[in-house]
Amino acid sequence: MRKKIIAGNWKMNSNLSEAIKLVSDLKSELESKEFEAEVIVAPPFTSLEAVNSLLKDSKIQLAAQNMHPSDSGAFTGEVSASMLKSVGCSHVILGHSERRTIFNEPDEFINQKVKQAFANGLIPILCCGESLEERENGTTFSVVEKQLKECLKDLSNDQLEKTIVAYEPIWAIGTGKTASPEQAQEVHAFIRKLLTKISNEHTSANITIQYGGSVKPENAKELLSKPDIDGALVGGACLKADSFKDIILSA
Ligand code: PEP
Repeated sequence: MRKKIIAGNWKMNSNLSEAIKLVSDLKSELESKEFEAEVIVAPPFTSLEAVNSLLKDSKIQLAAQNMHPSDSGAFTGEVSASMLKSVGCSHVILGHSERRTIFNEPDEFINQKVKQAFANGLIPILCCGESLEERENGTTFSVVEKQLKECLKDLSNDQLEKTIVAYEPIWAIGTGKTASPEQAQEVHAFIRKLLTKISNEHTSANITIQYGGSVKPENAKELLSKPDIDGALVGGACLKADSFKDIILSA
């Protein structure tokens, strides 16, 4: 049985004191609330350690927003998987469309990161999704298929089962435009079938597939009611503790 997982990607927002305030507010918002979803927050690198200390007495888990695939070395400005583990991360977001488009990260590089995450006991939240142009020229399925086949290459079924896939149509990220629940479900069902081909029915049935792209309290419930939408990767709406709490409660 798949658990709903709601993750908040803070992106390049919040300095140390703002991060402490945001996570403290989130903890108070969730205090004494009953919720079934797993909750993950992904603050910037500079706040991971402080946020981790504040999360010690809570069920909220910690993710980083990126990492380098090497163990260590001359990679100025980069952060390794073991560094992320050492500050309490359990998850890492990989292949976000902003990394793919602004920093030109190719699928093969993302695949190395996914393998390195597993080698260090981190669970990857692997993002995929098409641009507006690709949706309009009818290549959504082939784009997502290529991204997932290449980024998940050489993983064992056990690793695939633990991977969180986030379908994030680029045209819906930070734009206020959300994929309709039907549009999102159509791609999620396609991804589930693809994951069955890559692994098997049992493994694929246990893989969490999140939707991301302008998820807000107003649209979360309907999106999350679709059979193959197992959670959300939230950008803008996770920067306010009360709206992120409302999304968590609607799962
Ligand atoms: C994201 O960055 O992963 C995202 C989905 O952002 P937003 O919710 O702001 O569209």
